[in-house]
Amino acid sequence: MKTASSNVGLYIHIPYCQQKCPYCAFYSEPIEQNNPESLVDALFMELERYAIDEPLETVYIGGGSPTCLSPDLLTGLVISLLSQYKEVQEFTIECNPAQADERLFEKLLRLGVNRLSIGAQSFNAKELQTLGRIHQPQQIAQAVQMAKAAGFDNISMDLIFGIPGSTVDTWRYSLETAASLGVQHISAYSLTIEKATPFDRAVKEGALSLVDEPTDRAMYEIAREVLNAAGFLQYEISNFAKPGFECRHNLRYWKNLPVVGIGPAAAGWYKGKRTTNIPDIAAYIEKTENHQFAYTEEHIPTPEQITCETAVLGLRTTSGIDMHEFEKQTGFDLIMLFGNAIKQHCASGLLECTADNHCRLTEKGLSYADTVASDFTSLD
Ligand code: SF4
Repeated sequence: MKTASSNVGLYIHIPYCQQKCPYCAFYSEPIEQNNPESLVDALFMELERYAIDEPLETVYIGGGSPTCLSPDLLTGLVISLLSQYKEVQEFTIECNPAQADERLFEKLLRLGVNRLSIGAQSFNAKELQTLGRIHQPQQIAQAVQMAKAAGFDNISMDLIFGIPGSTVDTWRYSLETAASLGVQHISAYSLTIEKATPFDRAVKEGALSLVDEPTDRAMYEIAREVLNAAGFLQYEISNFAKPGFECRHNLRYWKNLPVVGIGPAAAGWYKGKRTTNIPDIAAYIEKTENHQFAYTEEHIPTPEQITCETAVLGLRTTSGIDMHEFEKQTGFDLIMLFGNAIKQHCASGLLECTADNHCRLTEKGLSYADTVASDFTSLD
């Protein structure tokens, strides 16, 4: 099994938020009750343990809200990273619209950060309130203006559909507003109810009504229609970009290429091992200070599991699985392994094999991606 890659990505999880959103299952804690300087020191200790010797293609600082860190701490983190890894081609930082700061953006760009991802979620004030977000719709436009004024030309925005109380009209408005702001990338995710979140409890108690399934599907189709009309190309089930602005870091996940994950709760895939770090800031710092790795879960997938994962992830992209690349990466011939499933889904119009040797979902298949992918999850 050839899992080696000539380069690697780096994900850094900053586990702080100003306020916890009731739908969110990402690990984060209030910054006020923590010592972020110790956390940043621990990040470098963890990074050192990995002794990465491949070139770093991408860095993605997410969370949590990285912009909860003070400008000095965040820029210090960037400076230290880029002094060690000068070859980084795409460097993204997530930004909460309520924490946008033009001077910080200017500094980050000057240092080598070349992509900002703004957590917009909705342009409807009531929906933002339902989501428990700390920002107002106008702050999203202001954040984009600040990013552009600072010189960023690669700006992404996250949007959520299926928010309780939303309609196809409010969703269309959010999409059109986002597209009109001149960003280069938009991610559009359906709200998922994560276990043990306040939203999960509210749904179980009947205090929160979800958008019904047909409306949710209609919203997905509206996203594709509005964003395509605005010049965004869909390159993954939930992701749209102006040509040339696809997120290289996320493409690494969909190509099943290695990404080192550091920080509390961060997940990684490196040197044949999948890891998840301890979701606890104090315990994370203690482990790194004791010169230990911070992961508490590790899994070494079998060659068969890696092959299936590579197929399932590849199907998420609109270009699909490059069958030559697949064979190079996994050592297996896709048609030999999944011939029956491919034949069946091609016959029902959900999948197609193209002349340039790609196996991909059709337009119709994109709406049934999970059903198709379920036939690629094992080799039996
Ligand atoms: S959605 Fe973002 S801002 Fe809200 S709690 Fe989760 S990580 Fe923090």
